Amino acid sequence: MSRAELRIKVENLVENVKSLCRFSQKPIIAVVKADAYGVGAMQVCSVLEGLKEVSAFAVACVEEGIELRKAGTKKKILVLGGVLKGEERAFVEYALTPVVSHREHLKVLEGIDIPIQVKYDTGMGRLGFLEELVKDRRVEGVLSHLSSPLDEDHSRLQIERFQRITKHYQNLKYVHMESSAGVIYHIPFTTHIRIGLALYGEKPMQNYPVELKPVLELRAKLLSVKTLPTGFPVSYSKSYITDKPTRVGVVAFGYADGLMKSLSGKANLFYRGKPLRILGNITMDMSMVDLTNTDAKVGDWVEIVGQNQSFTDLAKLAGTIPYELMTNLSSRIRRVVL
Ligand SMILES: *Cc1c(COP(=O)(O)O)cnc(C)c1O
Repeated sequence: MSRAELRIKVENLVENVKSLCRFSQKPIIAVVKADAYGVGAMQVCSVLEGLKEVSAFAVACVEEGIELRKAGTKKKILVLGGVLKGEERAFVEYALTPVVSHREHLKVLEGIDIPIQVKYDTGMGRLGFLEELVKDRRVEGVLSHLSSPLDEDHSRLQIERFQRITKHYQNLKYVHMESSAGVIYHIPFTTHIRIGLALYGEKPMQNYPVELKPVLELRAKLLSVKTLPTGFPVSYSKSYITDKPTRVGVVAFGYADGLMKSLSGKANLFYRGKPLRILGNITMDMSMVDLTNTDAKVGDWVEIVGQNQSFTDLAKLAGTIPYELMTNLSSRIRRVVL
């Protein structure tokens, strides 16, 4: 009944988990922050919950962790964004594992007996301890984050620094650093990989050595199809003027759904494999496309992402990254698990 759908191919999601695990020879911490990159954390976690290859989930903040726990997640939930004053009870109550990256986080957790993981900043310049070594009997794991996986020199430097830190610990259950792109380094001393984007079938780089299956299809229905005469303006600011009689379709998907206005005139949508130019400015809830030479009719689906283009392709056209495009997908798009 929905006008716009994000279809999630569960079989391929599972295949990607297995491929990543096989490639790295390590179990996965599945990163499902920001509603699983817009895919839908409930839908994704209900699938991953049943896989032995997935050891834990990682979210950005305590609220996301609580939501997952309430939805019935039994696996470990790591909260990457640390712990601030007032949040500590929730970590206990919902059995969440804080990633501690600052002295203040440790202070908040004083006297609270839960496992913690410690993040080190080896060259990301974001979260993590620099020189200071955190020795605390609650530490069950340590992690660091690669800032520039495509830069081999910097990554090697980060890996080396992280290795030096890990040598100060014994009996860690979790040592992790590799993200989707980071898996190319096969870091020998880590125990887990920490993967987001690649789970969803989007390659983090060209020539990605792990074979990924497409997981996501995004489509929306045609609300209107009509032929406009030559010289007729289309969309706000008359941003397109027909140069011939044109069959114009109105797709129920606009920038409020996540199709950035900057893609106006740049991206194509697809109808049964045929590319459709976007005519004029993308509007809040609708986009106009050129349906000339198609027999598309009201109610038909138009593909935004799928066999013909990925989020990565669209992101390139928009001058951004698939992460941003995906996390901009509106909650009014129905998530359909296939
Ligand atoms: C988001 C995030 C990841 C996942 O990165 P991908 O490129 O999506 O695999 C891993 N680690 C940290 C700290 C993150 O913030």
